[in-house]
Amino acid sequence: MMLRKFKAGQSSAKSDLYERCVLCGRITNIPRDLPIDRRVGYVPGGGQLCCRCYDEVMRETELDIKQQWSASADEMASG
Ligand SMILES: [Zn+2]
Repeated sequence: MMLRKFKAGQSSAKSDLYERCVLCGRITNIPRDLPIDRRVGYVPGGGQLCCRCYDEVMRETELDIKQQWSASADEMASG
């Protein structure tokens, strides 16, 4: 029967198969056996992020870089 298949601990099986986001703890759609260089949202030294957290981290990183650039530009102007 189809129902029996459904009962076989699906939620835990899924968390075994897919990576969990290191920030929010949600299950991502990245299979655990997928090579790191083929993954989306994997941060070296950090871990796997879900698409939402990855998006946020990327946005913050971009802001950081822009701030660093403008800071060094200020230094150059005053120095
Ligand atoms: Zn997340």
